[in-house]
Amino acid sequence: MKRIAIVVPCYNEEDALRLFYDEVRKHFVPGYDFYLLFVDDGSKDGTLQTIKEISLQDQKVLYLSFSRNFGKEAAIYAGLSAAKEIDADAAILIDADLQDPPGLIPEMLALYEAGYKHVYTKHRSRKGEPFLKKFFARSFYIIYGLFTKNRNIARGARDFSLLDRDVIEAFLKIKDYRRFTKGIFAWLGFQSKCLEFDYVPRAAGKTKWSFKKLFRYAILGIKQFSHFYLLIPNILIILCLLLFGFEIIHGIREGFNHLALRMEILALLILIGIKYLMRLLYDIRDQTLGRPLYLTKETNVEVRNHEETL
Ligand code: UDP
Ligand code: MG
Repeated sequence: MKRIAIVVPCYNEEDALRLFYDEVRKHFVPGYDFYLLFVDDGSKDGTLQTIKEISLQDQKVLYLSFSRNFGKEAAIYAGLSAAKEIDADAAILIDADLQDPPGLIPEMLALYEAGYKHVYTKHRSRKGEPFLKKFFARSFYIIYGLFTKNRNIARGARDFSLLDRDVIEAFLKIKDYRRFTKGIFAWLGFQSKCLEFDYVPRAAGKTKWSFKKLFRYAILGIKQFSHFYLLIPNILIILCLLLFGFEIIHGIREGFNHLALRMEILALLILIGIKYLMRLLYDIRDQTLGRPLYLTKETNVEVRNHEETL
């Protein structure tokens, strides 16, 4: 019987968890060995307590809990590592707030059986979303495509997806410290299939993604999959050339006596250059320090004895 791990990142989801648990189980297709793998991403509410209560009644409920909030990307990595630990044949990534309809699980499994290694999902339309969010989302995909030359990225795709064992293993090999999950899946390049569904509001609780957080995430995605930092010197070079052109025309007409202004503008451009260079160095530092993506505080997932395989 094939084993399917349902991986659920949770951050302050105590209000949604029981609703989620009751709902998701309704869509467990017979003939599969389903496990629920909750990743508590350092919640400050009763999330961990609720998960533990559920796991006491249901042996197929596993969890791991982080020492603090490491972010959804880290929670996805941890959940998929655990899915590998329990020898899952495939994993399904799903949010805890029921915005990802568990009703799609049977369809995902049917596509998996038909040979698709990666089944992802997206909203049928952005109807109902605020204008600004739509505008920024659309702009993001255009800019991302321009910078990364990767047009395979699934536009508007959610993290809600089915990944077979090969995709999980490939994903876990990507050791990016700052992870842009959607870009990673596009980069892996396995044969994928998209399912569409209509927007569903949150079952309970509040979103954890502020505009600022989303914006930073978008920049991260572009940075991780392009030579973004080359753009900055290029822009600065163009600005310098324009400045000198302007100075020369101005100087021919009125005499060359704008030294102070010119020095100030040059200093400004150099400082902008240095700032981006420092950012780049910090990004490299973050990657090379080799800090773990997350720290586990407690778990009931049994880690296999790796010594046996040495
Ligand atoms: N989440 C997480 N860590 C975080 C933020 C969110 O594990 O730091 C989880 C959250 O509990 C939920 C999923 O990621 O299960 C999606 O978050 P949310 O619903 O807030 O995002 P939205 O649907 O509004 O994009
Ligand atoms: Mg949500």
